[in-house]
Amino acid sequence: MKEMKTAIITGAAKGIGRSIALKLADAGFALVLNDMKWDAESESVFSDRNCDYVLSSGDVSSSEYVKSLMDTAMEKYGSIDVVVNNAGITRDGLIIKMSEEDFDKVIEVNLKGVFNVMKASARIMMKQRIGRIINISSIVGLRGNAGQINYAAAKGGVIAMTKSLAKELASRSVLVNAIAPGFIKTDMTDVLPENVVESLLTQIPLGKLGEVEDVANLALFLASEESGYITGQIISVDGGMNI
Ligand code: NAP
Repeated sequence: MKEMKTAIITGAAKGIGRSIALKLADAGFALVLNDMKWDAESESVFSDRNCDYVLSSGDVSSSEYVKSLMDTAMEKYGSIDVVVNNAGITRDGLIIKMSEEDFDKVIEVNLKGVFNVMKASARIMMKQRIGRIINISSIVGLRGNAGQINYAAAKGGVIAMTKSLAKELASRSVLVNAIAPGFIKTDMTDVLPENVVESLLTQIPLGKLGEVEDVANLALFLASEESGYITGQIISVDGGMNI
């Protein structure tokens, strides 16, 4: 029988992270799932599924917590094959109104959080001489967006870190890629006013927002044997918005 592979997914309680977790569970991965908190509804999604998983609550911007997350995975499963850096937040506002605190918070979670998880997993994957790191960036990291200078800086930084780490780890057969979603239907985009969504739709050639599964399908591919010759890439899932 094929050995079960292990995946860590951050921000997995809802939205894109949850969808990626379910996709990997169905593909036979054992899961170590992080989020800030787990409520009964989020937990039941995984307990109702016939899959092997551990839930962990904590903040990815804390390097100490991230180390304990890795320890949990190694103690329970003995390897970390795939890491998905999905946890993320927004604190939007035009630059003249954006507080330093809102700038720092988004950098702390969306950029430093990814650094923490990549650093801790790189050590383990280099020793294993195999591994996949999948970072969730954003179209905003590629093109910028008015009102999201903090988020754009973090997501652009994730792209630069992805390319750099791909170069650092390639000789150990650890592949590092990023997904750049466009606008996907989740709690994060639910807060957008109707006129903003209408204007966005005019910029999306496929004429609709994406579904969480659209992103999860690509994450599954990047976690699979079939993507073994792909590293350092930023792949868009955006209905053609970045053409
Ligand atoms: P979401 O529904 O808000 O889910 C994000 C999850 O991450 C939430 O459960 C959140 O917990 C958790 N989280 C936040 N801060 C965390 C931290 N410090 N440590 C651990 N977990 C944390 O958002 P989503 O739309 O699925 O987004 C997932 C990822 O895709 C994010 O990185 C986002 O930037 C990116 N993305 C989304 C879109 C889109 O259109 N939705 C487009 C491009 C990129 P709380 O709810 O407690 O904060």
